[in-house]
Parts: sequence; C-alpha cells; structure tokens
Amino acid sequence: MGLVDDYGAYIGRQVAAGRGARARRLVRLGLAYEGARLRLRPDPRTPKALVRLNRLAVRAVADALARPSRCVWVNLFAPVELLQAFGLRPLSIECFSSFMGGFRVEGQFLADAERAGYADTLCAYHKNFLGAAVDGVLRPPLAALTTTLACDGNVNTFRALGERFGCPTLVIDVPYEYSEANERYVVRQLEEAASSLARLTGRPFDTAALSRALESENRARDLHEEALRLGASRDYPSTLTLQMFKLFATHILSGSPEVEAYYRQLVAELRTAPEDPTALRILWVHLQPFHQAALQKYFNYNPRVRFLASDFDADYGDGRLDPARPLESLARKMLLNIYNGPYERKAAAVRALAERLRPDGAIHFNHWGCKQSAGGVALMQRALEGGGVPFLALDGDGLDRRNSPDAQIASRVDAFFEMLEARRGGAAEPALGPRPEGCHPYEGEHARKETPG
Ligand code: SF4
Repeated sequence: MGLVDDYGAYIGRQVAAGRGARARRLVRLGLAYEGARLRLRPDPRTPKALVRLNRLAVRAVADALARPSRCVWVNLFAPVELLQAFGLRPLSIECFSSFMGGFRVEGQFLADAERAGYADTLCAYHKNFLGAAVDGVLRPPLAALTTTLACDGNVNTFRALGERFGCPTLVIDVPYEYSEANERYVVRQLEEAASSLARLTGRPFDTAALSRALESENRARDLHEEALRLGASRDYPSTLTLQMFKLFATHILSGSPEVEAYYRQLVAELRTAPEDPTALRILWVHLQPFHQAALQKYFNYNPRVRFLASDFDADYGDGRLDPARPLESLARKMLLNIYNGPYERKAAAVRALAERLRPDGAIHFNHWGCKQSAGGVALMQRALEGGGVPFLALDGDGLDRRNSPDAQIASRVDAFFEMLEARRGGAAEPALGPRPEGCHPYEGEHARKETPG
C-alpha cells in the first residue's frame, strides 16, 4: 500500500470508530498537505496553468470545509454566481466526493451510506457525500442550493441532507424548455433564493457583485473558447484528474476572478505550446474516472493522446451573460443548458463540439447509477457516429472502484485505441506510455513565467 492508501485507510478507521471529527481534521490536513505540495513541489510534467487550477480546486474545498457557516453545498449545475454576491463558498457534492476518492477514503463513506439505507444504485458522488454526512465528517453548512437540472438524484439527496442537518435547502426548479414565461419563473425562484441567503447571512443582496461576477465569467468564457481552439492542436500535458479539476473553472467557481486568471494563463501557455498533429484526439462525454489505471495510461501525460474537451466544456453553450440583467442571465443559463430537457439537445451540442474540434474518437462514460448518462448513450452514439466520429461507450464508476473493473475497461479501451491508430494508417508509435517525469515541452521559457492574474 502506498502513502495515500495508508492515509485513506487511517481516516476510514477513525470513521469506523465513530471519530468523525477526527476524520474531518485528517481530511483537512490532507488538503493542506496537498496545497503545500502543489505550491512547493508540483509534478514537473504539469503545466503551470494546470497547477494553478489544481491549487484553486484544493483551496476551494479546504476553505469550504474550514468555515461551514460561510459554505453552501451545491451540485454542478447550481447558480453558484449568486453565492459570490454574499461572499459565500460553494462545496460541490461531486467535487468533494472526487477528492475523497483521490484520498482513497471513499470506500468507507460509500459503505456507511449503504448501511444507513441509501440505495446501492444511487450515484456514488451522492452516496459518498451522504456517507460523509452520516459519519459526521461534514459539518452543517449555512444552506444547500441545487437545481432540478440534469440529475434526477439531486433533489432527493439535497432534501435528505437538509433534513439530516436542519439546513435550509434551496431548490431551483428549471423547466425543460426556454420561454420568456419560464425565464420569469426561474428568476422568481432566484430572487427567493437570494432573499433566503440575505436572511441567513444578514447581508443585503449585492447585485453589483453579481454583475461583476458575470462580467468576469463572460471574459473567462472567451478565454475558454480560445483555449479549446488552441488545445485542439497543441501538445499540452494533462491527466484525467486535471481534466476533472476543470469543473471548478467551468462550473463550481464560475464568475470568480481566480478562474479568469487561470484561463488567461492557460491561453498564454497554449499559445506557446508546440503544435503536434500526430496525437490521437479524444472527445470525452460525461465525468472522467480518474482512478482507472486502464485509462490513465492513455490520458496521463501521454503525448500520443490528447484529451480535447468534454461535454462539460460546452454545456452552457456560447450565450453571453448580461451583467445588467444578472438574474435573467442566470435563468437563461440554466434553461439553455445542454443537460436540460430532452437528451437529443445534449447529443446535438456534443456533435457540434465534435464538428469544431474534429476528434479522432469519442469516449462516453456510463457512470454507474447515473440515469441521464446511461439512458442517453444510444442517442449520443448515433449523433457522433453519424458525424463520422468513432465512438466507445464504457461502463464503470467515476468514484466507486467496486463498480469499475479495470480489466474489462482495459480490454475495450485498448481495442478502441488500436482501431483509432489503424484508422490513422498505422502509427509508428503506439498510443501508450506516459511522458517521463521532467521531460515535456513545459520546461521551456513560458513554463517558468506565471501569468499575473
Ligand atoms: S453522475 Fe449523474 S447521477 Fe451522479 S451527480 Fe452527476 S448527473 Fe447526477
């Protein structure tokens, strides 16, 4: 067992012994250690912008855990910009659970949630969070904020958490279709959520702060688009875990100045990164199982494979936010999300992304317990294969290793990459083999410069 396994097992033992508070302190200690490691000794293969993003993600979770009275539990699609108007910090159930997976402690929380009666088939991101709550590792937040968008598990999970902790649960009901009436309906709920947050914090709703967040988000979106365009052809090392951290930039911390600074640095680095037309370019659909060794060998620092983007890079479309009408903008953002409404909307949007980025292949990850991803996979396959994009659907679990047998995934992924190589006319090098430590194009000049944020 490695150090991380030992650390996770030790936390698990504290939890099993009923020492939730001690386990919590250990989790926070792990986050502090990770923050220090990233500051002092980041992996030399990781580009600086991605180190910045990683630090941002670690700090976001650490801060949210440190001050529960200033923390709001959210899901990926919550209108987190609203929290900035009150100086509050979001803690996403998906991201917290992913961190627990990285710390190898998820098994304890998942088992405890199941023992507490939560269904085996419930999405592991929810179940892990519920388990941490049951085990006393999470302290009651100021509030919880979620939407009905995309995920059918959200509302039940958030209600269960609200009941357990006695914290207010704010649920934004997002109708399937955009219309002016539906926009007004969502705006009214956002107004109510803002009033609740004002009451809970004792602070007035700072609409100017919200407008500033949307202005920053617009600038970040432009930079994000530029990064997607540049990243399609540049050699820019990353890993599945770093790709997951991008959810902090595209979702959880949307509108924050730190995210804008990250994108600015990312674009600057991509502009000077070398062109490499030979790598296999992969479009990903849904969450990435960063723990899966069968996939790590292709996506972690492998110069022969490029992770182009995922559907989460494009789920808010290219619509602009209007800072002069911030609540209406947030309502439109949710109503027009590609995850909202019929699955065909998402399939068409991912197809459009593929037309822009021209991947060699697409991988759709059917995360265990996620009805929206598994239920729509055939439609996604038709949309992408119809556009000439080879398609692989993988069954597994982004968090719960018990539901993600590596050998099965390896045989399917290996065959897929062999096929992609063959389509390329036979590559001289196989799509295997991580980049050795300390050997990548980011030892160059721009790697040593930190773009000021
Ligand atoms: S993976 Fe699916 S079920 Fe789980 S949180 Fe995401 S949308 Fe919900």
